[in-house]
Formats: sequence, structure tokens, C-alpha cells
Amino acid sequence: MTNTVDSKKRRDLVKGIGLLAISLPLGVKREPNALAGPHEKKRVLRVAHITDVHIRPEYNAPERFGRCIEEIKKHKVDFFLNGGDSIFAADYNNITRERVNEQWAIWKNARERFKGYEVYSCLGNHDMWWACPDKSDSMYGKPHVIAQLEMPGRFYSFEKHGWHFIILDSNNDNAGSLDAEQRKWLENDLASLRRGTPVLCMSHYPILGVSTIMEGGNHTDARYITNLFNKHRDKTITCISGHIHLLDEAGYDGVRYYCNGALSGFWWEDGDSDSAAKCYYRETPPGYAILDLFEDGSVSNRYYPHSF
Ligand SMILES: [Zn+2]
Repeated sequence: MTNTVDSKKRRDLVKGIGLLAISLPLGVKREPNALAGPHEKKRVLRVAHITDVHIRPEYNAPERFGRCIEEIKKHKVDFFLNGGDSIFAADYNNITRERVNEQWAIWKNARERFKGYEVYSCLGNHDMWWACPDKSDSMYGKPHVIAQLEMPGRFYSFEKHGWHFIILDSNNDNAGSLDAEQRKWLENDLASLRRGTPVLCMSHYPILGVSTIMEGGNHTDARYITNLFNKHRDKTITCISGHIHLLDEAGYDGVRYYCNGALSGFWWEDGDSDSAAKCYYRETPPGYAILDLFEDGSVSNRYYPHSF
């Protein structure tokens, strides 16, 4: 007997799992009164989740990004959630001021494509320019990114149609993680919600994942976050993330965790020997997710691969 699976078989298997995730949206039901049948559910919002856009001048990425946005708009979404790593990379030691500015200029230009839509962003690990020579420079670190993405702060929450949205900042010591200030804020934010409130929580790093067991990239404080969520079993909580560029879905303690691949796939490049097809990162095609949010707190999360 052998416990090794040949790599092709494994690839096919993982591909199959990926397809399942694409075609079978799963609802989240934690409250007994949320057990309405599929025909009784009322959709209250449709949201696009784009993550790891990694916009860059190379590989014709700006134009390809524009075509993705045009396709997403056809889904008639109410607004966009942008999961971080909006630009290719500002975080490496050799990145110059010019290179940072060039990337944000492309982002700003691309943003015109979906003018009229609200975009709620979170910080990705590649967005910050830590190599800025002077820490008092306005381009150093998180404040500059917050300004570029027109965010109200590095973490925040907002309400829409009875849904509560939480946007986290995973970029702290031992990332992904929440710092002490953010933990306190999150505890208070959840405590302020009435019983039964549906919550959609977006982070850059996955809070929990299946592929992260093999690949890493998980929140290192998942135990703290899942403990906190357990104290709020009276709400319906769904989490979405990016960062690992993989399509992944996990469920734990009544909370579903969707990692929605990457819009840039293999950073807009063709891929490498581990890519299952052109532009894929491993088994995951470049794509975006469309989330339907229902009145009863359930969520349909569908991943749409794109071919641009
Ligand atoms: Zn990332």
C-alpha cells in the first residue's frame, strides 16, 4: 500500500475541488430562524470581491484589468470590495519613490473605469512602501496607502441594507494578525451589533483556510479570532480574503471562510511549472467573486475565472 498520489491525479483532484467551489455556492445558517428554503430567501445585495489586483505597467495589466472591470459590471453589482495588494509591490527593499508613484498612478487611472461604484478596500502586504528613506515622509507606510485607496482608516466597518461589513488590517507583527488596538476595536464593533445581524468580514490574509495548511499565508491569530466569533454565535458571520492567490473554502464553528483567488492570477504573468494552465497560480485561475447576500444572513460566493 502506498500513500502517495501521483501528481497528475492530485492535480485532477484539486481541480475537481476547485470546480466544486466555483459551481456550488454554500449558504451559511447559524440561526434557527434563518432556515428559510431557497425560494423564500430574499437577496438584498450583490457585491463584487476583487483581490490581489497587483496592478503594474508590465504585461498590459492596466488594459486587461479594465476589461475585467467591464465584465464584472455586467453582473450588476451594488459595490466593490477590494481585498488588498492593489498594486504589484511597494514593499521590497529596492523599490524607489518613482516606482511606487507609477503603480498608484495606474491604479488611479484604472479606478476611473468603475467610477460611480463605491469601492471598499483593505490593505495588502505589498501595498506599503516601507523602504521610504524617511519615516516622516508622507509616502511611508500605511497612511499613504489609506489615502490612495480612499479608505476611512486601516480598519473600519459600515452598514448596508441590514448587513454589517468589517474590513480588517492583517498587516501587523507576525502577519497576518490583528494588533491590540484592532482587537479591542473588533470586540467592541461585534458587541455593538444586535442579535441576528449578518456580518461579512474582509481581510487580506485568510483567517482560516484549507490550502494554507500546505502553503502557509494564514492569519497567525486564527485561534483568537475564532474564539471571538464563537462569542458571537448569535450573528451570521462570513469571511472573505485573498493574499494566497488560491481559491479556498473552509468552514469552522458555523463560519465560512472564502479565499477568492486573485484577479491578477500569476501577477498577470503566464505562470510557472506549477501553474495548471496559462496565468494560473497553481490550480487557481485568475478571477473574481460575486457574492449574493440574502436577508437571512446567508451568502452565495461564486468565483468567476476570467480570460483576460
Ligand atoms: Zn498579499
